[in-house]
Amino acid sequence: MVTTPNAKRQNLSRHSPAEAGRRRTRNADIWSWLEEIMDPEIPVLSICDLGIVRDVHWDGAEAVVTITPTYSGCPAMAVITDEIRASLQKRGIARFRIETQLSPAWTTDWLSEKGRERLREYGIAPPRPKSSGPIACPHCGSPSTHLVSQFGSTACKAIYVCDSCREPFDYFKCH
Ligand SMILES: [Zn+2]
Repeated sequence: MVTTPNAKRQNLSRHSPAEAGRRRTRNADIWSWLEEIMDPEIPVLSICDLGIVRDVHWDGAEAVVTITPTYSGCPAMAVITDEIRASLQKRGIARFRIETQLSPAWTTDWLSEKGRERLREYGIAPPRPKSSGPIACPHCGSPSTHLVSQFGSTACKAIYVCDSCREPFDYFKCH
């Protein structure tokens, strides 16, 4: 026998559909782990809800996670990168890298529908283009609201007050 079973197996493992399947499973696993990482500034939103995670793929045996920062200079990005690293290490992903992609720039359009819903439940009005009308109160739904301050607890939020229920609320600025 010239062809050893070992050589055969190695060949198979490089290109077999089974291996591709495993990779896909691994990808889904990584996405689900990233889904558990919350934005430090808005703890009800995962980094996937925010649309920060752009891609997960494999470069040979190395996992590559591509992220796009939100508002420029957002200090939360360093925390997020650390959390991604810790999450992958904890799950035994030995080889990975985190790539930052700046273009196209992140926009609030990338927020998932689930993310918008979570924001509302949390009492933050989700971002919406100015052209789409008034910002509705996340507490009572009234469209009758007004801006109090362009800057809320963080630079990405503004403070509004509802004219109907009188409650102040944060508005996640459109970006
Ligand atoms: Zn209200």
